[in-house]
Amino acid sequence: MNRVFVEIEVQRTQAYLSRSLSLRGRRGASALLLDLHRHLADLAPGPGGTTWRREDSAPAIDGKLVLVADPAGDELDDAGVEAEVRRLTAALRRRLPAVELHAQWYRGRDHLADRPDPDDPTVGHLVSLPPRPEWPLARPCDRCGIDPAIVEVPRPEPGRVCRDCKAREDAGGDSSPHEKDLAETFRELGHEVAIVRDLSQLAGAGPTETVRRNGSGGTARRSLKRNHLATVFIDANQLGATVRRLAAETPETERGAAVAAFSRAVADAVATALEHAAIVVHDQAGTPDVATTVPHVKGGDDVLVTVPAALWVPFTLTYLDRFHGHLAEQGHALTASAAVVVAHHKHPFHHVVDVADELLTRTKARLGGTSAGIGWVDLTDERPDTHEPVSLDWVHEHE
Ligand SMILES: [Zn+2]
Repeated sequence: MNRVFVEIEVQRTQAYLSRSLSLRGRRGASALLLDLHRHLADLAPGPGGTTWRREDSAPAIDGKLVLVADPAGDELDDAGVEAEVRRLTAALRRRLPAVELHAQWYRGRDHLADRPDPDDPTVGHLVSLPPRPEWPLARPCDRCGIDPAIVEVPRPEPGRVCRDCKAREDAGGDSSPHEKDLAETFRELGHEVAIVRDLSQLAGAGPTETVRRNGSGGTARRSLKRNHLATVFIDANQLGATVRRLAAETPETERGAAVAAFSRAVADAVATALEHAAIVVHDQAGTPDVATTVPHVKGGDDVLVTVPAALWVPFTLTYLDRFHGHLAEQGHALTASAAVVVAHHKHPFHHVVDVADELLTRTKARLGGTSAGIGWVDLTDERPDTHEPVSLDWVHEHE
């Protein structure tokens, strides 16, 4: 029996996060993006009695939801499905006012096995953009400066903010859900770590000096100012092509289960790589009571994380090795690549993520897209110091 599936995804997640000038606002956005399904929990049935439930085979991904019509959606013609999708995106927008949403829908028996190519003419698409301010001279929001201020908030300091910043504040700004998860991991290992107050404290949680081997076999020490951060953006190489190959190689009756298992394995690899990298960074930071890894967002195959600047190398190498290793243990060949942006902790975050995004694209292109690679740039100097992307294999040969 065919059913109607609807996938809705937040576009340009990092740009959405970085609307907020403060870590507090970005943490609220991380909380809003986690498990979008819950924002629709109290949605009333549609005019034809259609309700939507979470598709169980879809892995949990920040900023994305997969719904299936209940009953099957036979009562809906194509226009009826589109009307329902508009109702769903409108409901999401009430909870996340400033997001860009992309929705697509299709009919099939199995969400993953029957998922058509996005260009297939039977797939419906809809883009939902935040409304433009109606009154351009309205006072701008005290927090983001982008949208009109419409509501007072008392915390952390009183201010007049836009709808989106209000939603972020309501979602919680003291820590992101991913920071809480990491703190819980450390607790299970017997370490009580405090989540950082702000980015200044995070920068200060790094090591006080670096020790390098010099050419004559001795060591050179250099003290560090500890006011810089590294933001690391990592995602898998050619995930889409890998999924298509897996689907093509698997008999039709097993295809849905095989793709679902692979998607879960990739999500597990992200989680385990992040945990391992956070533990290594914590061990090297020299501040055992403070969490030194701040994850902002965790997608199906990607993460965006900030660590003290001096610790980006152990973080990135551990993550990339563990990601690949975890999947290899389960018989999958998939690597990831990283873009690292080092900057002062006061450097505008939206610029940091723009640079990271562009650098990751360039790193993958430079290395052919299949092998693990790292690109990094230091924005500290007036003329940013961009390094040629290198492969992970090259790094290990020169360690
Ligand atoms: Zn705002």
